[in-house]
Amino acid sequence: MSALNIIVTIKQVPDTAEVRINPKTNSLMREGVPSIVNPEDRNALEAALMLREAHGGTVTALSMGPPQARDALEEALCMGADRAILLSDRAFAGADTLITAFTLSRAIMKIAKYDLILAGRQAIDGDTAQVGPQIAGFLDLPQVTYAEGLEIQKGGMLVVQRGLEDSNQWVQVKLPALVTVTGRINHPRYPSLYHVADSCDDAKIKTWTAKDLQLPEAMLGLGASPTTVKKIFEPDRTIKGEMIPGDEREMAAALIKKLKEMHVL
Ligand SMILES: Cc1cc2nc3c(=O)[nH]c(=O)nc-3n(C[C@H](O)[C@H](O)[C@H](O)COP(=O)(O)OP(=O)(O)OC[C@H]3O[C@@H](n4cnc5c(N)ncnc54)[C@H](O)[C@@H]3O)c2cc1C
Repeated sequence: MSALNIIVTIKQVPDTAEVRINPKTNSLMREGVPSIVNPEDRNALEAALMLREAHGGTVTALSMGPPQARDALEEALCMGADRAILLSDRAFAGADTLITAFTLSRAIMKIAKYDLILAGRQAIDGDTAQVGPQIAGFLDLPQVTYAEGLEIQKGGMLVVQRGLEDSNQWVQVKLPALVTVTGRINHPRYPSLYHVADSCDDAKIKTWTAKDLQLPEAMLGLGASPTTVKKIFEPDRTIKGEMIPGDEREMAAALIKKLKEMHVL
């Protein structure tokens, strides 16, 4: 198999344990909330680095976000990515998943030379799991989701082990393709001292704007997004739980009785 050029999509997300919602604007309050690399994107990057180690090639980290998303790309470089591209422009703001995927796919078309795109299955803030498959749609690429294992065969085909609810599935796919990975695929490495000294050079991060992608503002951001958030709210955490006493049989019987009273069963 010849060397692989791999693009990994990296989303910077708020540390969800600390996320608060603004009920007036129906949006996440990101101010003062620490940001992290979306966990499954670290898995996608680790998978890309392992493939590069086995077959040679390059790993490009790609993110769309505000200027501070640079920190996420720096982390990707420190883990071992060869270069990084940040899509950042006020025109990109407020994009829904479709327009996020559209913008990322236009950047991937500009990168042009790629064999494989790896994305996390799902971001821990937006949680839709739509962006990876939508990118594949825009680029007219085959896609395999829920990857828990990746292997390049001698002929150059990619074999993806998919983790399903109660079984595994092995899918053979011709490259170029897009694959979304779950957290079960590997254990992402920590940045090594070598990488800290040699690779964490933020000069390797390029920033592309709408102009670089040759996209008019009308095709970008909130204005172009077909989705609107009607309402977003935090679940009521004041509801108190109730302990059911007794042994297993008594507890089960009492629980069934209660669920029947509530017309759940
Ligand atoms: C009407 C509307 C307005 C919105 N306005 C805003 C806003 O103003 N600001 C804001 O931050 N969000 C906004 N969002 C949320 C934003 O659309 C999503 O965060 C984004 O599209 C990604 O969706 P997701 O989080 O569900 O990702 P998922 O589809 O769950 O992510 C799957 C994978 O796709 C890749 N990916 C996803 N997003 C990116 C990215 N940006 N860069 C690189 N890779 C990525 C990652 O690999 C990730 O693991 C808005 C959403 C809607 C519907």
